[in-house]
Amino acid sequence: MAEPLDARSSDGGSFDARPLDIASIRADFPILAERVNDSPLVYLDSAATSQKPRGVLDSEASFLAHGNAAVHRGAHTLAADATEAFEDARFAVADLVGAEPESIVWTSGATAGLNLIAYSIGNASLGRGGKAADRLALAAGDEIVVTESEHHANLIPWQELASRTGASLRHIPVLDDGRIDLEAAAGIIGSRTRIVAFPHVSNVLGLVNPVDALVGMARSVGALTVLDACQSAPHLALDLPTLDVDLAVFSGHKVFGPYGVGALYGKAEVLEAMPPFLTGGSMITTVTLDSAEYLPPPQRFEAGTQPVSQAIGLAAAVRYLGNLGHDAIAAREASLERRLREGLREVGGVRMLGDAAGVERVALAAFDVDGVHAHDVGQFLDARGVAVRVGHHCAQPLHRRFGLTATVRASAAFYNTEDEVDIFLDALSGVRSFFGVEGTR
Ligand code: PMP
Repeated sequence: MAEPLDARSSDGGSFDARPLDIASIRADFPILAERVNDSPLVYLDSAATSQKPRGVLDSEASFLAHGNAAVHRGAHTLAADATEAFEDARFAVADLVGAEPESIVWTSGATAGLNLIAYSIGNASLGRGGKAADRLALAAGDEIVVTESEHHANLIPWQELASRTGASLRHIPVLDDGRIDLEAAAGIIGSRTRIVAFPHVSNVLGLVNPVDALVGMARSVGALTVLDACQSAPHLALDLPTLDVDLAVFSGHKVFGPYGVGALYGKAEVLEAMPPFLTGGSMITTVTLDSAEYLPPPQRFEAGTQPVSQAIGLAAAVRYLGNLGHDAIAAREASLERRLREGLREVGGVRMLGDAAGVERVALAAFDVDGVHAHDVGQFLDARGVAVRVGHHCAQPLHRRFGLTATVRASAAFYNTEDEVDIFLDALSGVRSFFGVEGTR
């Protein structure tokens, strides 16, 4: 790994955003040196999954080679050490989002976290979880509110919950420029609203949504807030307790960590009230043949063998980000974001989704190329070594709202260079003439 690049100010206080040493960062990510289709890889698909620094790969391999044992069980030294490493990882991930470790539940990813929440509330609605869970129970007449910009992972679990409980699902529309329609939200979030679930950053639009405004509206009617932080956790310095959301989720593989691990954050009193979703080993105190008593959170939600090596790898990713400094990462990504967006505006026949002015955003842009199908654009770019994502990005309703079925999405991370963005833009500039469509720049 590169020398730790500690961008923290010498007094240990705020970050001074010293520029990052990009060459040394890229050397930490072995995959960035790969060639694809006879060209150097230009990886602009970090919103789908991020690349992992060598330290993450090494920490997982080292745990498996030298420290592997089942956690929370064995009395032997290896098991005790593994448990300590696993719980240390919870501390690291909690620190990433400004939370206490007891507020962090391991999941296999954001999808699993959102399903955990929805099924737990479903169980509360069946009367499981006793009096404490009553405040979460839904019934006919109650409303769950989402936005039109949801990833399917923050939509379908709520559709299912609504159909199981008789509650109805409503959505806040998205404006033409990609912003959430807050005026409409004020009319939709009302006395019947019990849950407001929304993305911090849409995986298609890249805009940072107004968490304060939505949380304020939800609070004023006593609704629970659920934040999909999948696309913000890799890029923004998150402080979930300050954002004041009740619950939030994100995936390890998008924050430069391993697959198969993620985190669910919950306020202590909310997690305390939630009945379990998955049940089985490791989440109980006493079991008889007829019934079981459950552990307090977070263990109540961690049934079965946990993703231990992955959690340790995720903690290594969090430490890596901490060493770079979140402000330095943000400054670097802001520069890539500008290059990407300004460049895309200059390519003829390209329409970006969510091109709102004056809104904070991450380095991600989804766009349509007039006259060329997104899949053809993707193949054309791939032939030149440029990896982007094409399709509906698990956000069909949002694409439908913009009259599209598919877009091309380019998404950068701090390990990308301005040169790579330019390679992508140059290649894209040739796509319409290649496919015989008029009006290229
Ligand atoms: N929400 C958003 C905004 C996402 O971008 C994604 C992943 N594309 C998810 C949820 C689901 O994450 P995972 O597939 O890692 O569970």
